[in-house]
Amino acid sequence: MSAKVIDCVAIANEMKEELKKEIEDCKSKGASIGIATLLVGEDFGAKMYRKQVEKFCQEMDIDYINANPPADSSEEDVVKIVNDLNNNKKVSGILPLRPFPEHISDYAIINSIDVNKDIDCFHPYNMGKLTLGEITFAPATPSACIEIMDREGVNFEGAEIVVVGHSNIVGKPISILALNRNATVTTTHIFTSMAGNLAKHTTGADILIVAAGKAGLITPDLVKEGAFVIDVGINRVKVLDENGNPILNEKGKPKTKTVGDVDFDAVKEKAGKITPVPGGVGAITNMMLLRNTIKACKIQNGLA
Ligand code: NAD
Repeated sequence: MSAKVIDCVAIANEMKEELKKEIEDCKSKGASIGIATLLVGEDFGAKMYRKQVEKFCQEMDIDYINANPPADSSEEDVVKIVNDLNNNKKVSGILPLRPFPEHISDYAIINSIDVNKDIDCFHPYNMGKLTLGEITFAPATPSACIEIMDREGVNFEGAEIVVVGHSNIVGKPISILALNRNATVTTTHIFTSMAGNLAKHTTGADILIVAAGKAGLITPDLVKEGAFVIDVGINRVKVLDENGNPILNEKGKPKTKTVGDVDFDAVKEKAGKITPVPGGVGAITNMMLLRNTIKACKIQNGLA
């Protein structure tokens, strides 16, 4: 039997309408609402994400500020920019886009963000609150996973959830969020794989959440029959023909496509539910960021 493919784009569109109303409500009460991204230098991936946030803010009719000091800015100068954004009433939320240049410490920048403007939950204060289950802002991608499960009616209490990946921004907070909801959570990572133990854990999962950044990592033999598989991974891979050779584009370069960490076509035949890539978790991540921005706006304007 083929799995139900979760229509995350439809969920995102539904959320968009709900959140537009909340934005209007904030504005009608005199509050300004907006996001500032902080990109230091010209990192390609961060620039792509920056553009996406700008477009999204335009679409949702909220203010957008592009703080983009040059790569040779001093740490002190960047902290000053963050302080200015902290004091700017048009900025409800600050989104640092990493990586920063090597001479600038993540720690120094993130610690200088106003905790009430920390919309992707990078600040240790907000991460601490997340761990204690007293959440102000949950990070966007992990909460997108929780939103999908909630909308699919998952009962977290006692559910066997296995997370693949333990990064501070994705794997670890997903595990904490699920643990806060009383799921039985197993967090696996590269050392689990290297010890030859990945399948031992993943095959016991009723819900398998994968955030490793490795295309094709999750094959059907790693998945329990009927499991709910949530694929967070985003990878660019070459498009191959039936003999495994790259297909070239009109410029003679290999064609590429975006895939997740799960071998979607094969795993779909074994799983009960599955999220696709593209059009999966990523589609909902922006909505979670917006939800946090609205919350930040309400906190700052005494509307919460
Ligand atoms: P990361 O590189 O910081 O962490 C990767 C994690 O996967 C680590 O914990 C590592 O130990 C683990 N891992 C790597 N190879 C593994 C293997 N063979 N077996 C088991 N575990 C393995 O990456 P990240 O920032 O956590 O992002 C993970 C993936 O999620 C990436 O593909 C990224 O592009 C994607 N992502 C998607 C969204 C979204 O909105 N959909 C947002 C952020 C990140």
